[in-house]
Amino acid sequence: MSQRRAGHVNRCPNCRINNHFCVCVHLNPFEIKTNISLIVHVSELKLTSNTAQFVEKLLPEQAQIFIRGRVNEAFEAEPILARSGRPLFLFPDEDSQEINEDFKAKYPGPYHLIVPDGNWNQAKKVKKREPKFDKIPTVKLAPGLIAEYKLRKAPRPDWVSTFEAAAYAIGAIEGVDPQVRMMSFFRKWVQATLDSRSGNFSLVRESSLGD
Ligand SMILES: [Zn+2]
Repeated sequence: MSQRRAGHVNRCPNCRINNHFCVCVHLNPFEIKTNISLIVHVSELKLTSNTAQFVEKLLPEQAQIFIRGRVNEAFEAEPILARSGRPLFLFPDEDSQEINEDFKAKYPGPYHLIVPDGNWNQAKKVKKREPKFDKIPTVKLAPGLIAEYKLRKAPRPDWVSTFEAAAYAIGAIEGVDPQVRMMSFFRKWVQATLDSRSGNFSLVRESSLGD
């Protein structure tokens, strides 16, 4: 059996990486104070490179995926709007405010972070198409972030994945600890995915060790 075929057959059902590179041992769920709603297109959810799924797996109590784009099923904003916390829509438009100490003093938490998955164009559509999101203020991350997501071609150098956007937003809201825990897992997942794609099974030992 070729390694390529093995990669398809022996895939972990949870992290969806080849079993030899499975990162589930590093997937240790924890709790935060902020609710997170991730709006994910149905076609994205099938892709192993989609990062939103891991926000939900790491933060099962607070993070929830809401699927849009299903055939014959209108997207409902109500269940998202019903969640507790001050709603903030994470998207860098002309009006969006940076999440920083001034912002938090002016608009105290706890917060409910709404995160559209996908690239900026797709995210823009989510907000435009859903009038009920109109009154929710948009927020953005501090400038200067470096994307560490190497699994897809980024349209812009500062484009970060949904997972990274959520991790840094939580960092800005709750402090660096949850951000570090999230990014620590993320780096292992990105590396394991790249290793499994390389088909080099000699990397197995190295990637399955760690903390
Ligand atoms: Zn796994």
